[in-house]
Amino acid sequence: MNEQNAEQYMEALYPEDDMLTLVQQGIARAGMPQISVSPGYGRLLTLLVQISGARQVLEIGALGGYSGICLARGLGEQGKLTSLELKAEFAEIARQHMIEAGFGDKVDYRIGEALDSLTQLEREAARFDLFFIDADKANYPAYLEWAIRLANPGALVIGDNTLMRGKTLHHEMQGQGVRGMRAFNQAIATDPRLESAMLPAYDGLAIARVKG
Ligand code: SAH
Ligand code: MG
Repeated sequence: MNEQNAEQYMEALYPEDDMLTLVQQGIARAGMPQISVSPGYGRLLTLLVQISGARQVLEIGALGGYSGICLARGLGEQGKLTSLELKAEFAEIARQHMIEAGFGDKVDYRIGEALDSLTQLEREAARFDLFFIDADKANYPAYLEWAIRLANPGALVIGDNTLMRGKTLHHEMQGQGVRGMRAFNQAIATDPRLESAMLPAYDGLAIARVKG
């Protein structure tokens, strides 16, 4: 059985998630890229928020709100999600989906370059318990540094698409995105400020804890 079949087998065990299906349909209808986090990792995001008891969650890259809903599902009464998105029209669709899912009052979208929003969040003295990095791959190393800087002790940092559909493994691939991802993966594995694990299923996921 290859990886793809193992993933399909496990996906098929779950009943259809009507809300997330609506989100996928909304994304397709809007002509947005269909690159939401995989369903298996979406469920893991919910669990990680829940288990960690994270109250302040930061997402980098909102797209249509799929991962936003997964993160928000794990939040308790006092939890909040801040979501950074380059494109105003994407953030608007994400916001609509979050409202439909019942999380409209839980999310704060910040439009524009994530690096600018991160600078602004630091000015506001914002701190977070869990980060989900899922935007432009070239900036992953910078996003990791920002996450460590804005982390409460013991915060979790999660990075999606660490395999880039296999590009990360193939050294003849030398684009900015893939080089950024290799540097990010190396930092996740070796940075002394972190403890971590990496999941090679789907498109790859990194999970790190900022030592407290
Ligand atoms: N996390 C989403 C998928 C995100 S796709 C989900 O799983 O549901 C990547 C998103 O990052 C896109 O919406 C893209 O517009 C956004 N993005 C790309 N470059 C960015 C940047 N420099 N700053 C902020 N957002 C960016
Ligand atoms: Mg992704």
